[in-house]
Amino acid sequence: MTTVFGKIIRRELPAKIVFENDRIIAIEDIHPKAPTHILIIPKKEISGLQALQPEDFPLMGEVVQVAQMLAKQYGIEDGYRFLTNQGSSAGQTVFHLHFHLLGGRNLGILG
Ligand code: AMP
Repeated sequence: MTTVFGKIIRRELPAKIVFENDRIIAIEDIHPKAPTHILIIPKKEISGLQALQPEDFPLMGEVVQVAQMLAKQYGIEDGYRFLTNQGSSAGQTVFHLHFHLLGGRNLGILG
């Protein structure tokens, strides 16, 4: 099922794109929760972390590489949070796998 991120990937909706290759796109979150709040999104339509298959694991390695690169680029490599929300009870609202990269302020302890 297509989502807002599928539409962004297909350029049917605008977004501030900060990284893109054939497999991954990274955009600024429209409602940032921190001075840096980037979404790293595999282009493959995977509904969430729990739907990942072993064949997708190399893609996850690449997602981590992109997170490291963007953290450095945004000057937050000393402290950031990198997370995904799996399922609505965890706060997932867009059912296309994505990872939040948050930093630029003291993020406190996860609660
Ligand atoms: P989650 O709640 O983990 O599924 O995260 C979805 C995130 O997507 C939220 O932080 C939203 O602010 C963000 N979001 C929703 N629509 C857009 C959009 N059109 N452009 C950028 N970010 C968006």
